[in-house]
Amino acid sequence: MKSVYKCRLCGEKHCEGGTSNMRIALSAVIAATLNKEPEPNAPTILTVHICKDGSYGISDFLGMQMEVRSDENI
Ligand SMILES: [Zn+2]
Repeated sequence: MKSVYKCRLCGEKHCEGGTSNMRIALSAVIAATLNKEPEPNAPTILTVHICKDGSYGISDFLGMQMEVRSDENI
């Protein structure tokens, strides 16, 4: 699962890492919603986005999204 953010300034969705462990992903989402101190490498509720035009935006954490593997479409 990948952590997905959306930039408030440019609107772009972007990923900032992730995990293959579903339990860790759920814990990360819950911790983010409760404003708990994040574990190392866990997603924070806000992050900085460097937009395509060089601006610095603020991105909101949207959640942990399932990743579709390309080999699952075969
Ligand atoms: Zn942006």
